[in-house]
Amino acid sequence: MYRTFTCGELRIAHVGQEPVLAGWVQTIRNLGAMTFIDIRDRYGITQLVADENTTIELKDKFEKLGREFVIQVKGIVRERSSKNSKIPTGEIEIDIKELTILNKAAVPPFTIQDDTDGGDELRMKFRYLDLRRETVRKNLELRAKMAHVVRNYLDDLHFIETETPVLIKSTPEGARDFVVPSRMNPNQFYALPQSPQIFKQLLMVAGFDRYYQIVKCFRDEDLRADRQPEFTQIDCEMSFVQQEDVLNMFEGLTRHMFKEIKGIDPGEFPRMTYADAMENYGNDKPDIRFDLKFKDLTTVVKGKDFKVFDDAEYIGGICVPGCGEYSRKQLDELTEFVKRPQVGAKGLIYAKVNEDGSVKSSVDKFYAPEDLSKWTQIFDAKPGDLILMLSGEKDRTLPALSILRLEMGRLAGLMDKEVFRPLWVIDFPLLEWNEEASRFHAMHHPFTAPKPEDIALLDTAPGTVRANAYDLVINGVEIGGGSVRIFDSELQAKMFKTLGFSKQDAENQFGFLMEAFKYGAPPHAGIAFGFDRLASMFAGLDSIRDVIAFPKNNSGRDVMNDSPAEIAQAQLDELCLSLVAPKQKN
Ligand code: ASP
Repeated sequence: MYRTFTCGELRIAHVGQEPVLAGWVQTIRNLGAMTFIDIRDRYGITQLVADENTTIELKDKFEKLGREFVIQVKGIVRERSSKNSKIPTGEIEIDIKELTILNKAAVPPFTIQDDTDGGDELRMKFRYLDLRRETVRKNLELRAKMAHVVRNYLDDLHFIETETPVLIKSTPEGARDFVVPSRMNPNQFYALPQSPQIFKQLLMVAGFDRYYQIVKCFRDEDLRADRQPEFTQIDCEMSFVQQEDVLNMFEGLTRHMFKEIKGIDPGEFPRMTYADAMENYGNDKPDIRFDLKFKDLTTVVKGKDFKVFDDAEYIGGICVPGCGEYSRKQLDELTEFVKRPQVGAKGLIYAKVNEDGSVKSSVDKFYAPEDLSKWTQIFDAKPGDLILMLSGEKDRTLPALSILRLEMGRLAGLMDKEVFRPLWVIDFPLLEWNEEASRFHAMHHPFTAPKPEDIALLDTAPGTVRANAYDLVINGVEIGGGSVRIFDSELQAKMFKTLGFSKQDAENQFGFLMEAFKYGAPPHAGIAFGFDRLASMFAGLDSIRDVIAFPKNNSGRDVMNDSPAEIAQAQLDELCLSLVAPKQKN
């Protein structure tokens, strides 16, 4: 037996026992007469001690030890004279009697402790060492617990966990596919699934009724902090349901996760239409931990010879409580902030409400005190509040105002990481116009059902058709999304046509789905949660990387095993592939 206890297990009640422990050397302190060694495993840290009575043989072994050596020790548990209340084993120590070096360790490239000296790249290159650190490992433990809670919940509700293939036929869902060449079928390729969308719909045709899978998905997209080329979804589908049933079911799952994992009730899940979200927050995933809703002042502020406003299609603003004290410098910084290319505003107009209720604005030249007090009424602004306004073309100003709103939420300390405000955004548009391709794309995916009352508009004004599609947004992060599906092969064919597929292309790509729909497809709907995002939110992290055991970097590389990598000529030959010089990037 390698061990009788873990390194996190021994307490005062074990005093006098003779345990065997195994683990890694965390630290060694040789104080002459006394030697202290901290031994670590996944469960904790235990202090080992040897005093002047230690045998020469043991002392020799201590000389050889280094950080991260793998050791096994036998000793006697005794009460510590100076206790450490910071760790659960802090009341005891082990008087070492025997020590075996199970394996030596090279000096690690960074110190394996909570506040490590290793930079990001180094920690990724030696990820297996990074994962030894408790701060990193506990995120993965949280993730595992979440998966367990999800499985329990859905299993109890008769969802069938079903694996779907990873080598599939390319299914367009908005992103690029990763492709895999087939050796047995020269010049043919599989794609890795962007999601199991078609398979889960076919499982509904198969009568599975309720399906789920915690599943890897692959999208060849440009990466950001919350994106990885491979990521995990909690993917679900249900039959004989309407949108309302799906929202209720997965509100239930989300609530359950909050309760089991975080011990909290996230309160109501309000619903907001896409149109309202865009108009009031400039964003289809508003963070509703704080209000700062936009007010439209377009009609109110025009006609006072202030050219910027007079020429603008839209003038909107937010009122930030308690920021009326902002200094000139702070306001200049905010102006610089909104002028950055990522925000794209031309300038920022402000109005501060003074303690006596009077208003000081950056456009006092054009607006009389009565005009300004009209503004404060619209915003219901109180003394000490700060009104910030942007203007310009509406479809540019709303997103800019959205970024400003989030920045003010951050600056005003309104984004508490321990507060969770879920929200369903519903009634998404079915289609969005793609300028480059000069055709419509499906906003969610091509299998999403239009709202029945909007179907007629498909022929006349496709851009205005709303879908029975929904997103679950928590704290401004899109956590899940799904839709009611088309289950009629004719409507599905019409949708492909609207998306610019020729009959032949639709047949080639999706013939099997439309064929399946001929054999009695039930009405169905579903959703997929971004599991990594949910886990990182629950862990209080900004990036999904730290809830993924072996993540890729921003260029999609695994710096630990240095992939993607070239393959041997023989492998290429077998796959009938030949290499071409990479295109120069401009
Ligand atoms: N397959 C969709 C996605 O990956 C989710 C769904 O519609 O169920 O976003």
